[in-house]
Amino acid sequence: MRLVFGPPARYALAMQRIGMGYDSHRFAPGRPLVLGGVRIEHDLGLAGHSDADAALHALTDAILGALGEDDIGQHFPDSDPQWKDADSARFVRGAVDLARSRGWGVVNCDLTVVTESPRLGPHKRAMKLRIAELLGVAADQVAVKAKTNERMGWIGRGEGLAVLAAVLLEKD
Ligand code: MG
Repeated sequence: MRLVFGPPARYALAMQRIGMGYDSHRFAPGRPLVLGGVRIEHDLGLAGHSDADAALHALTDAILGALGEDDIGQHFPDSDPQWKDADSARFVRGAVDLARSRGWGVVNCDLTVVTESPRLGPHKRAMKLRIAELLGVAADQVAVKAKTNERMGWIGRGEGLAVLAAVLLEKD
């Protein structure tokens, strides 16, 4: 049997790549709530080494995933003091810079935040605009959606929140 090493031609010529990301953080008192790069007034924040912005973490992982890279924890380890209380915008910018260095640009991204509280309706627009700014794309290339978990499970009990993200990259 003949073994072929290296990527097949179709992969090498691909003009688009898709990535998905997921993140969850536990709610914690005495912490700010930052989601999608936006500070949101709430009685609880999110626990984490950085600013714990689960939306930007999921987005970063989606970009890294589209690039075939390892995850955010490998690129920006929480054992590294430079990421203590870090603005998670730095992770997104790092992933976008990596994509650009390989000739990839963001076509669009789609995020879903799953949480019982706070209600994110009033904040979704600001999150969308901030994410578009970080990605260097127009607002209509970014979607931020919010759902409750219908009071089911750990999200339903308000223990934390989760974010799902999908990103499409295209060869510039
Ligand atoms: Mg995280």
